[in-house]
Amino acid sequence: MRLDYLTIFPDYLTPLSLSLPGKAIDSGLLEVHVHDVRGWTHDRHRTVDDTPYGGGAGMVMKPEPFGEAFDELGVDRGTAIVFTTPSGEPFTQALATELASRERIVFACGRYEGIDQRVLDHARTVADVREISIGDYVLNGGEVAALAITEAVVRLLPGFMGNAASLAEESHSGEGSGLLEYPVYTKPATWRGHDVPPVLLSGDHARIAAWRHEQRLQRTAERRPDLLHVSSAAIDWDVVPAT
Ligand code: SAM
Repeated sequence: MRLDYLTIFPDYLTPLSLSLPGKAIDSGLLEVHVHDVRGWTHDRHRTVDDTPYGGGAGMVMKPEPFGEAFDELGVDRGTAIVFTTPSGEPFTQALATELASRERIVFACGRYEGIDQRVLDHARTVADVREISIGDYVLNGGEVAALAITEAVVRLLPGFMGNAASLAEESHSGEGSGLLEYPVYTKPATWRGHDVPPVLLSGDHARIAAWRHEQRLQRTAERRPDLLHVSSAAIDWDVVPAT
């Protein structure tokens, strides 16, 4: 998979070279290119923003540098261009799974009041545009959102995780029926007066699986009841508190 990032703060993307993404780059599973949008400006001040038409506070990112970036990067219909924006579709595990099937993703990271709308209108004529929000809050820029989306996507690539079994039964995953994950424990069995649930020490795999399933249901009902309708087929309604 090839990933390109268009940003005015390339240093924000340096975590991509760390940990598992860094290993995936070294192994050739991922190809990552971070581009400074100012590289596509032509004035002495390398200007990327200007005042908004119609007035109002803040600045808007100019269209020309992004247009030239798309031209030079050679985006096409097979490319997903992700515009990170609080007004985009909510980012979910399902969307991460969909993006993980793409050969190429270009992230356009906004700053200020966002990117001139015509950049998106133009991008739609040459590529597959996704406007994605990572949550109902406002960040200073799209880089952190692009990192979050990247991490959720690339860990789904075959060969990315050292142990692919880690993906099974995770919160929000299909194999976990879209439910939240059960609580996890490791050694020691007792710590500061807190014991590991005895069932996990029993060696009885069927009982452990049943306990974990029940924990997933309880946790989801308590914390994210909105997720339960997605998983209604998998739910034993007796253990789900009435809402
Ligand atoms: N004026 C914009 C609005 O109200 O929708 C917010 C602009 S924000 C200060 C600057 C940039 O941060 C956005 O263009 C976007 O790239 C990024 N951003 C902020 N919040 C985000 C979120 N929740 N999800 C994804 N990107 C976000």
